[in-house]
This record gives sequence, structure tokens and C-alpha cells, in this order.
Amino acid sequence: MEWCMSIPKVELHAHLNGSIRDSTLLELAKGLGDKGLIDFSLVEHVILKNDRSLSEVFKLFDVIHILTTDHATVTRITKEVVEDFASENVVYVELRTTPKKNESKGMSKRSYIEAVLEGLRAVSSVHLGFIPLSEEIKNHSNPILSASATDDRSNENTRKKVFVRLLLSIDRRETTEAAMETVMLALEMRHFGVVGIDLSGNPAVGEWVTYLPALKFAREQGLYVTLHCGEVPNSREIHDMLDFLPERIGHACFFEEEHWRKLKSSKIPVELCLTSNIRTLSVPSIDAHHFVDLYNAKHHVVLCTDDSGVFSTSLSNEYKIAASSFGLGRKEMFELSKNAVEFIFADNMVKEDLRNIFSLAAKNL
Ligand code: 5GP
Repeated sequence: MEWCMSIPKVELHAHLNGSIRDSTLLELAKGLGDKGLIDFSLVEHVILKNDRSLSEVFKLFDVIHILTTDHATVTRITKEVVEDFASENVVYVELRTTPKKNESKGMSKRSYIEAVLEGLRAVSSVHLGFIPLSEEIKNHSNPILSASATDDRSNENTRKKVFVRLLLSIDRRETTEAAMETVMLALEMRHFGVVGIDLSGNPAVGEWVTYLPALKFAREQGLYVTLHCGEVPNSREIHDMLDFLPERIGHACFFEEEHWRKLKSSKIPVELCLTSNIRTLSVPSIDAHHFVDLYNAKHHVVLCTDDSGVFSTSLSNEYKIAASSFGLGRKEMFELSKNAVEFIFADNMVKEDLRNIFSLAAKNL
């Protein structure tokens, strides 16, 4: 585990509200319990329950969202989640989150994302690069932007560097209009490091055609797209999603032969979340995980956490599981981690920086 912790890693599939520390969730629940707003013991039981089916996971997310959807909490959890990834040598994180409205807290989708950005600015344990360099230069006269950029530069040589980019998620419960609103917001927020769109949420809900117009528009405007694909058996939808040719997909648990063929010929990289798939019973056992077939076929795969809080895991732990379950040696593990750089949605300058980080690390292996 120590070795998996020590190598640089790239996280491409992490949901903000799924990555919250248990201790923070319990503290938030206790706070609302003390105010008589929720029944703490009931919520505590839900948070601490270990094994959950996929549908139970979505019930848990509804509870989590009650605890977290106010500006200060969104800011706090963003800061903590990024610091937690940084503490295990994750050098690039693509954090995804669903912009939410909460009228009782005066929250709009836009102010939700602003609270996320506030959390990124609050990170102090590492040097954080989340604003594209071209924008830092352009916005040098903007006091909010330039303050964080200058701060960053002054500490550049002394602190560990972590790059963060954001993906805005469309929840499958949303309408076409709501999905479009999220895409418009992503476009507006590009200069704050928003690079793409994710489609997630309960796979038993909603229809592909509902999100398609927004996803097409996102692509036309140059945003990257990643889709949760094949989390439940739904052959038609898997075909439709692969035909869309997203830049990446996540999970791919319920693929049939024809889907594998299509995926492999498309060369779409797959974000794989081992613990999540096992815990939600989306694959029967780790030995039967499709990692093995994709890896042996040299198809591009990236190990990710999905929801490190909800599934009590970390990216280092996912690497450890891959090493022990699939017999990969250190060289293979390092290559797996390094190759993820090629599938990030950030620009070439970031890619180049990350390649250098991995080259340096390779010398110290
Ligand atoms: P948030 O977007 O609120 O920051 O993160 C939690 C949300 O991410 C959940 O409500 C759900 O929409 C989505 N999510 C988290 N984990 C999964 C997963 O394994 N599958 C799918 N389809 N969606 C997920």
C-alpha cells in the first residue's frame, strides 16, 4: 500500500459528494440533528452502513445532499476532498459534481459552482493549479483571480503541486432544459477550469434522448464528455452512448459481446472503479472484473475511486487492489498510472507538466 501511495496518480472519476470524509458527514449530520432538523441516529446508521446495492447508494446520496447543499458546506467539502487526494500523491484530479439549486439556501446552479471554486481557492496544504494558465495571464488584473494566482506562484517551489479540473454532471433525473442549463454554466465557467460534462445519477432513471441535445451542444462548443455507461443492463442505451463517441466512459459493467467489440474498435478510454463495482454488486467478484480483459487487450483503462467516501476507499487502495487481484508488478502499476495522463481533459501544457512529474518519479523508483 505504501508504494501505491508513493507513486504519482491521476484521478479521473471522482464525484464530489461521494468523496466526503465519513467524519465530516457525521459532523454535519450531528449539527442538523442538534437543531432538530434530522434524526441523527437514523442518518448515522445510513452513513456507516457498509455494503450497499447501487439503488441504496442513490438513496444515500439523497441523504448526503440534504447535509451538504449549502454554500459553506460545499466549499468545505471541496477543500477537504482535494486535500485528501493530494495527501496520497494524486497529482491531477478531475472532480465532477452536479450543480444544484437549493432555494431555501439561496443557492443556484451557478452559486453552487462558485462555492466549489471557493473551496479550491481555500486549499492551502498544496500548491493548486485549477485555473488554466492562459486564463491566469489574461485575468491578471482581476483581483479575485490574480490573488490566487500570485499566491500560487510565490509558493510554487516549496509545495507539492496538484492540478484540478472540474466536470459538471448532468443528473439523469434532469430534463433536457436542466441539462442544457448545466452545459451553459460549464461554458461560462471554462476560464475557472471547467473542462467537461459528465452524465451520471441513477441509471434506472431517465432516457438517453433526454440528455442528448445538451451533450451534443456541449461537444459542439468544445467541452469534453464522459458518460456513465453500462451500469445496468440496457443494451440499446449502451449502443447509443458508444455511437456518441464520448471522450471517455465510466464503469462498463453490463456490456455484452457486441458492446465490447464496439468499445474496443472505438478506443474510448474507460474509467474503472473496482471497489465501487464490487460494493454495488455490479460485478460478481474482483476475479470476474472486466479490468482483466480490457487490460490484456491493451484497451485504455484508468483506475479511479468513484466515491472514495461512500465506498471507504482511496486511489492508492484501488491500485493496491489491482496489483494484488490481477498480479500486476510495480512496473505495470506505474505505467498504468502514467498512461492516465494521456486521457485527461486539461490542455497540453498540463499534460506536459504531468509527463515531467512522472519522468522524475520514474527515476526514483
Ligand atoms: P455530486 O454530483 O452531488 O457531487 O456527487 C454525487 C452524485 O454523483 C450522486 O447523486 C449521483 O448523481 C452521482 N454518482 C455518484 N456515484 C455514482 C455512480 O456510481 N454511478 C452513477 N451513475 N452516478 C453516481
